[in-house]
Amino acid sequence: MAADPQHQSDRLQRRGLMLVLSSPSGAGKSTIARNLLETDTALELSVSVTTRQRRPSEIDGVHYHFISARDFERLRDTDALLEWAEVHGNYYGSPREPVEIAMAEGRDILFDIDWQGAKQLSEKMRADVVSVFVLPPSMAELKNRLHRRAEDDEDTIARRLKNAAEEIEQWRSYDYVIVNDDLDRAFDAVRSIVKSERLRRDRRPGLFDFVSGLLDEPL
Ligand code: ADP
Ligand code: 5GP
Repeated sequence: MAADPQHQSDRLQRRGLMLVLSSPSGAGKSTIARNLLETDTALELSVSVTTRQRRPSEIDGVHYHFISARDFERLRDTDALLEWAEVHGNYYGSPREPVEIAMAEGRDILFDIDWQGAKQLSEKMRADVVSVFVLPPSMAELKNRLHRRAEDDEDTIARRLKNAAEEIEQWRSYDYVIVNDDLDRAFDAVRSIVKSERLRRDRRPGLFDFVSGLLDEPL
């Protein structure tokens, strides 16, 4: 039986993409990221290093690598981080090596990082980055979500709310913007973005050979 041409073209060699998700704390980007990672096996998470305290629900090495300030400085100063930033009084950074390996192998990586990190990645690797900013439907709902998450103390929540306006100001520098009112709609929107971005011509170097083969076929 002849191969399904659509299916065949799905298997063409392609270049991985770097999907960057940012939002003010509590808007829902980690929830969206989790759903994407569960439903899209071609996507993997860039596990950041951080000096922040682990939350009760978090697992070291899965959600973050929890490290000391001293170890963070060592990684930062040896250029082992692709980007890094201070966010809400803690340090966060994306380890360089796993990303470089994944990109070279044509795999897609998801980054749950703030606007400062998104800016650094876009400056360094513009062609590979697809950035999505997640907005809350209202500031009142943002506050509710931070409380409902029930993983941070009151001081931490107050600090995150205070920083929210500054983060929201950055929305214009992202490729896509999603208002996370309804979770299912937000998931669908991000999945559509990923699906379309994977089809971009410049992410599919295998098309050169595919099209040459098409044109060489005897009619
Ligand atoms: P962020 O990673 O942006 O800080 P989270 O993904 O941790 O935010 O979400 C904060 C809280 O809001 C969580 O308790 C999550 O379950 C909840 N949440 C996320 N999206 C929605 C939504 N669309 N409707 C209601 N609650 C939501
Ligand atoms: P949280 O403490 O809620 O997990 O994350 C706080 C903020 O830091 C979020 O906006 C999150 O996206 C951001 N963040 C997490 N990891 C990184 C990282 O490696 N680099 C940067 N720049 N920001 C990060």
